[in-house]
Amino acid sequence: MLFTTEFMSDLIHAVDKTIKENAAEVTTLDQILGDGDHITNLQRGINALKALDAEIAQLSWSEAYLKTGMTLLTTMGGASGSLFGTFFITMGKETKNAAIINQDLFTEAYIQAVAAVKKRGKSDAGEKTMLDVLIPVADLLEENRLAPATLPDLLDNISLTAISGMQSTRDMLATKGRASYLQEKSIGHIDAGAKTTQLIICTITAELKQHLAD
Ligand code: ADP
Ligand code: MG
Repeated sequence: MLFTTEFMSDLIHAVDKTIKENAAEVTTLDQILGDGDHITNLQRGINALKALDAEIAQLSWSEAYLKTGMTLLTTMGGASGSLFGTFFITMGKETKNAAIINQDLFTEAYIQAVAAVKKRGKSDAGEKTMLDVLIPVADLLEENRLAPATLPDLLDNISLTAISGMQSTRDMLATKGRASYLQEKSIGHIDAGAKTTQLIICTITAELKQHLAD
């Protein structure tokens, strides 16, 4: 099945719904470890994307990723705004001129986008951030190149990996972002950015599975 960028509108609306449903829980997490504004930042970005969905539907995937990244970068604010922005801008650059994005190209672009987030955040796995969700998913996609699963199975594996990555942040000591100011006191709580990143990934995989089944 081929997905056109019209599908982006479905994804944005589905992500919006999930984030709204989980807003209170995530805000509590960011109040414990940060300054409590993560959901507000994210929703500012999502609302800006919702206003652009008709425009995005006219673009190629590469242009749509770039537009998404630039929009998040300029509207979200917070550490997460520049990191989510960097992620999508890199996805756009890596898929430039591609008529279609197959699994191989998506995998390569995703891996490069995660590398760009690492560079921008000067951070890596194990520091209690969104990267503890993004990196395990990149590793899974890399492994899947060697031993490919069916697409529905791959989507299920991505969701499970994102969930375990999010949960793994609970016992980590934060060494990046505002949570690092808490030092040992950061242990015992899930990172807000890891939680929203997991929610976004799981919403996208669920939407993809749904559309594959239709
Ligand atoms: P801010 O921390 O500026 O208030 P947000 O609350 O929107 O921004 O986002 C906080 C989230 O951003 C954290 O929960 C964490 O997942 C992520 N984050 C913060 N700093 C970094 C970093 N250097 N590298 C990776 N992720 C980071
Ligand atoms: Mg914050």
